[in-house]
Amino acid sequence: MSITPLINGSLNIVTTDGCTARCSHCLMNCTPNKKNKVKFDQIQKCVDQAKKNYELKLVVFTGGESTLLGEDLFRAIRYCTLNFLKTRLVTNAHWATSLERAQRYIEKYRSVGLSEINFSVDDYHEPFVPLENIRNAWLACKGAGFDSVVLANSHGKNDKITPSFIQQFLGENIQISTPETRTMGDINSSPSEDGTTYQIYENTLQKSGRAEAFDDNKFDTIENQNDLACPCTWAVNDPVLSPIGHLWACCGIPSDNNPILDLGDTNKEKIKTILNRASKDVLLNAIHDLGPLKLCQFVEDHSNIKFSKEFCGVCEICSALTNNKKAVQILRDNEKTISAMIRAKRSVAELSNLLSQNRTGK
Ligand code: SF4
Ligand code: SF4
Repeated sequence: MSITPLINGSLNIVTTDGCTARCSHCLMNCTPNKKNKVKFDQIQKCVDQAKKNYELKLVVFTGGESTLLGEDLFRAIRYCTLNFLKTRLVTNAHWATSLERAQRYIEKYRSVGLSEINFSVDDYHEPFVPLENIRNAWLACKGAGFDSVVLANSHGKNDKITPSFIQQFLGENIQISTPETRTMGDINSSPSEDGTTYQIYENTLQKSGRAEAFDDNKFDTIENQNDLACPCTWAVNDPVLSPIGHLWACCGIPSDNNPILDLGDTNKEKIKTILNRASKDVLLNAIHDLGPLKLCQFVEDHSNIKFSKEFCGVCEICSALTNNKKAVQILRDNEKTISAMIRAKRSVAELSNLLSQNRTGK
């Protein structure tokens, strides 16, 4: 039983828990007062280890606000470029206060080889980062030579800033990538004439992090909770380096000291050691193959613990499960049974693959 770490070839780095903003929906609970930052040496060490042991292709710098790393961020991007790795920067564009300033920043990022850039734009960022910054940053990226420029938009029910609002605001018919089109591999997305793919990346608002405090009527209701019974293809496949140097299973929720999703400390162990252990862990395999909702149901069947019946997303379920120490203990006590469930699920999947290959004659 094992998951393949870095199967998609990407390593994510949550560069800092500090931010220029304090968005009320922040998944990572970032604030201007938080000061943990990954240092250049640590990024270099982790990139080297990931490159040596896996087919690393892309390093994603996210946060918090990654640009607070200052020169270390430019050094890190340059280091990745010199090692033939693609890089993506996720930023709130607080620096794009004028078109000229945005152009200077973009030129500097491109000069060290940054290949992709994502800007966050929604109702919750707007009080801290004016929409005009987004326009400046967006225009500065035009023809700058990026592989992709993405406007990441999370919106709940009745929010103002949606993909169509952004299209109107920027006066462009920008391609929209939705969770549904992404599961089909975004087959219709294509680069524009300047060679860059420009997209709005739409997501529904998640009830996680600071958004847990929001009123329920902000979120889309999932009438049938079994619709959330999906396996998680991110766990261990897309690991994340945290601002204090821990390796998380995914970027779904902040996971320092989470009993399942905090995989280990890169200050004490090599990435390969941590990921080898994680890829064999029964509960991570169970999240990967069965999904968090099935595990919640397992806990409910084996204890008097009851979980919410009003979850809005899979990561929200995963957070409720993995941060509940009693629930985790019940799962650990039943690892043999859970292993059998995973094996059964994999056998069914293999059988149906064989049948469909027979049908198509391959
Ligand atoms: S959502 Fe992004 S911009 Fe807003 S506080 Fe969190 S890290 Fe900062
Ligand atoms: S379901 Fe769990 S493991 Fe998967 S991305 Fe969400 S928080 Fe991470």
